[in-house]
Amino acid sequence: MAYIRNIEHADIVHRCFRCGYCKFPEDYSDFNCPSYKAFGWDTYAPGGRMWLIRAWLSGEIETSPRFAEIMYSCVACDNCKNQCVFPKFKDVLPDIFQETKAELVSEGRIPPGVRDYFKAIAISGNPYKLPQEERSKWAAGTGLQKYSGQEYLFYAGCVGSYDEVGQKMAKSVGSLLVGAGVSLGILGTEETCDGNEVRILGEMGLFTQLAQDNIEKFKAKGVKKIITLDPHALNVFKKDYPQLGGNFQVFHYTEILAGLIKKKRIKFNKYPAKITYHDPCYLGRHNQIYGPPREILKAIPGAELIEMRRNSLNAFCCGGGGGNFFTDILGTGEDSAGRVRVREAMETGAQIIAVACPSCAKMLTDAVKMENLEDKLEVLGIAEILAKARK
Ligand code: SF4
Ligand code: SF4
Repeated sequence: MAYIRNIEHADIVHRCFRCGYCKFPEDYSDFNCPSYKAFGWDTYAPGGRMWLIRAWLSGEIETSPRFAEIMYSCVACDNCKNQCVFPKFKDVLPDIFQETKAELVSEGRIPPGVRDYFKAIAISGNPYKLPQEERSKWAAGTGLQKYSGQEYLFYAGCVGSYDEVGQKMAKSVGSLLVGAGVSLGILGTEETCDGNEVRILGEMGLFTQLAQDNIEKFKAKGVKKIITLDPHALNVFKKDYPQLGGNFQVFHYTEILAGLIKKKRIKFNKYPAKITYHDPCYLGRHNQIYGPPREILKAIPGAELIEMRRNSLNAFCCGGGGGNFFTDILGTGEDSAGRVRVREAMETGAQIIAVACPSCAKMLTDAVKMENLEDKLEVLGIAEILAKARK
């Protein structure tokens, strides 16, 4: 076991109480582990996952496609890290799940969807297998220039660059920042995958290569500050790149927009709408950024922010984390995370679900369609809402 070689981690797997508190939010009102919610078996919950890993580490069970699928059904939402009752090891829970996946990669026993994802990134630099030349098409008409020493690099990421829903988000953020006079540029066709999902899915060799190439590129261009569209990119730039020598000041676009609004550099008209906000796991639980998106929405005259039952630290994931956005191991059943979350948004009476992550935007847009709620609920990026309020 090359990856779970940390004695402390192996020991922790053995000491998990299997008590199951980790699958709930703080008030125990619902199941907050998306894979458990979707499948309903304890093997898909964090404690059950630990039980399986324990049996696997001690040789009681062998690697199998089923074992791999269960491990890859985790969406890395970090709810279990937040909720585990055992203070000593709650912080290493996500590492144990990630190391298990890295071990499966090294054994070459991964689900086909995960294998295809790695292959697409390795060959095309993005999971969509689309040409590099198409990467910056979204920026047309935004006024964004190529990065050449501006204050910030604006990093759109793969979903923002290639997915239709993500592109809309990237466009609205780019236009707003340019309009507010922020000095920023994009890498355009030179941008490649940030590697956050590659790392969480356990392909450490490919991750290191992507991260080192990006760090080298950023440094060669003199980048000091980065604004990310995607909280997943924010996460990997902030937490993993420094270990490989990449030290940049990293901000999520909502932090920058909230600052601009405070300085009155973005103004808007009245926009009477009931809005609920969905916390992206990689912005909220992973990076404790809860305030700025809410400050922006509250600043819009006439808009009413109504919180969902589960919000902030206890928010329920959209189901797109941990690479599931691409591998779709959680599926689209009635209890899949996106559909559950959309029904929860409906309970608030809001007409708009505000999102701050392109993966959440896509997951929840698809879920709204599956729930036949298109005439009642609209999923919009925070900058898209601001653009509507400025008209
Ligand atoms: S709360 Fe912690 S100790 Fe209890 S089952 Fe979950 S991981 Fe194990
Ligand atoms: S990270 Fe989220 S999906 Fe994965 S086991 Fe923990 S609660 Fe479940």
